[in-house]
Formats: sequence, structure tokens, C-alpha cells
Amino acid sequence: MPATILDGVKIAAQIRSEVAAEARKLTGSGIRPGLAVILAGHNPASEIYVRGKVKACDEVGVYSEKHTPPDSATTKDLLTLIETLNCRDEIDGILVQLPLPPQVDAKKVLLAVGPEKDVDGFHPMNVGLLSTQRPGLVPCTPAGCMEILKRSGIAVAGQEAVVIGRSDIVGKPVAMLLLNGNATVTVCHSKTRDLPAVCRGADILVAAIGRAAMVTRDFVKPGATVIDVGINSVTDPAEFQRLFAGNAKREDTFRSKGSTLVGDVHPEVARIAGAITPVPGGVGPLTIAMLMANTVKAARLRRGNGVPEAVRV
Ligand code: NAP
Repeated sequence: MPATILDGVKIAAQIRSEVAAEARKLTGSGIRPGLAVILAGHNPASEIYVRGKVKACDEVGVYSEKHTPPDSATTKDLLTLIETLNCRDEIDGILVQLPLPPQVDAKKVLLAVGPEKDVDGFHPMNVGLLSTQRPGLVPCTPAGCMEILKRSGIAVAGQEAVVIGRSDIVGKPVAMLLLNGNATVTVCHSKTRDLPAVCRGADILVAAIGRAAMVTRDFVKPGATVIDVGINSVTDPAEFQRLFAGNAKREDTFRSKGSTLVGDVHPEVARIAGAITPVPGGVGPLTIAMLMANTVKAARLRRGNGVPEAVRV
């Protein structure tokens, strides 16, 4: 039986509407949640991402402002900007769009963002809060993976979960969230021996690798839930054929755009998994929705208010 497709677009829309209601309530009580986005230098992909984030703010009623230091910006320039934003009460979240210009010390800059405004959840303070199960800001993509599971009625507690990838941005935090949800978690990486065999033990398999269609059916236990975090662009016609031959909709896209997106999971896995996130339209849309949720959560946490269910992760 083909897998249930876990519709990230629908789940993200639900979350956005809950966040919008929450933002309205806060604004009504005199606290309009606010996000500052820093886009340093000129990077076309980053400009598109930032546009999407600013548009999402407008849609859910979060105030946003964009800061665009030039390509020549120094570490000191960015630290000064972040210091100003840290001190402004109407700014609840600060997002530094990566990559930064090469002369900038990105680690130093990210560390300067006040942990209470760190809506990306990358600050060591938030990493520590997550690992000790205290309220804090959780990285958006991993939080989105958990929302997909929760809102699709997929149990986590007691399940065997395998995460492929151990990055600070996705692999490690998603593993920690699954552990906090009482799964038995195995984290795999490039040095893992017999990766397919380890993955076949998973009831929940999360792929966050960055390698197009690497997870084939021999990695997957029949009926398992597969969360595909990967976003890879396929431009080679031979690779396209290998992955999508016979898929008329994809063939149309590939013909007109010259590329298509594929996750880290091979499309054939949908034939044996129990449930799977598609690419595009799976985890991707959750990332911005969770950024909005984090901004509202930061607005509450900073003022010592509890976090309502809609934005709790
Ligand atoms: P990353 O920092 O490059 O980490 C990749 C991880 O995969 C590393 O831990 C690496 O192992 C592991 N890996 C690489 N090749 C492997 C192999 N052959 N076998 C086993 N493990 C292997 O990537 P990331 O930032 O976590 O992102 C992962 C993917 O998610 C990318 O496709 C990215 O575009 C996508 N992503 C999507 C969203 C979204 O919104 N949907 C957000 C963020 C990222 P080592 O540690 O041993 O090197």
C-alpha cells in the first residue's frame, strides 16, 4: 500500500493561523511581536528566503524590519547592530540570515544575539535549555518535524527513531526533540557502519543529509514513518530519469524549469513507508511557520508569560 503523504503545506497553514490568532491577542494587550532580520551583503538565494520571512510576518501580524548591511560589513558592524537590536524592547526576535560575507566571524555574530531573542534556537543557551527540557527557543526545522508527527497522530513515545545527520541546525536538535518525546534515538552520520541496516530498525526515520535520494527502499522498514528534511536540486537529465521517470507532473516541471527538487529520500520509498513527507511540500513549509511561532513565543517568554499550546514546541 502506498504511504500516507504528510502534507506540510496544510500543517504549516494551520500553525500560521494559530500563530496569527496568538499575535492578535498579544497585540490587543499592547505587545506586538516583532522580528528583525539581518541580511548582510548580496546573496540572491538569501534575498528570496528573507522576502519569504518578511511576507510571513505580514500575514500573521508580526511586526518585521529588515537590516541590510553592505557586502563590506565587518564583524564589528554586525555586533554593533545586534547590540542595538538586543536592547530594543519592541524587537522579540533577531534572525541573522546565513551565509554572512566571508570576512565576518559568523560564530561570533550568532553568539551575540541575546538568547531570549534567538528565534533560530542556535545559541548555546537555547541548546542547553532544549537538552535539559526547559522552556526556550527551539530550532525551526526540527520543531517543524515534530509538529508534523504530532499533528499527523504519529506516536513518538516508545518508538525506535533513527536520525541520519548530526548538524547543529537539524540532526542534533531533532534527535534531542525525539528523545524528549520518549523515543529511543539513534543518530547516524558519515562514519556510521552499515547505515541501511541501522535505518531499517527505525519506526521513525529522519533524513537530514543533503544528498539527493540517498535513502533508498533498503533503508526503510515497511510501514515506517519517513521525515525527509533534505532539499536538493536535480538538474542532470539522467539523474532526473533515474528518480522520476514516468512521473508526468515532474516531467512537465523539469522541462519548463530545467530543474526539480528532491529530498534525501528516494521517491521509491513512498511505496513501502507507512507515511512520508514529500519534497517539496513536506518539512520545508514548516520552517517559516515555526519561525513565526518562535517569534510569538519569544514575545511571551521575554515578558515572563506562559507559552500557549499553539506555539509550544
Ligand atoms: P549538513 O550540516 O551538511 O549535515 C549533513 C549531515 O549528514 C552530517 O552530519 C553528515 O555526517 C551526514 N552525512 C553526509 N553524508 C552522509 C552519508 N553518506 N551517510 C551518512 N551520513 C551522511 O546539513 P544540514 O544543514 O543538517 O542539512 C541537511 C539537509 O536538510 C540539506 O539537504 C538541507 O538543504 C536540508 N535542510 C532543509 C531545511 C528545510 O527547511 N526543509 C532546513 C535546513 C536544512 P558528518 O557529520 O559525519 O559529516
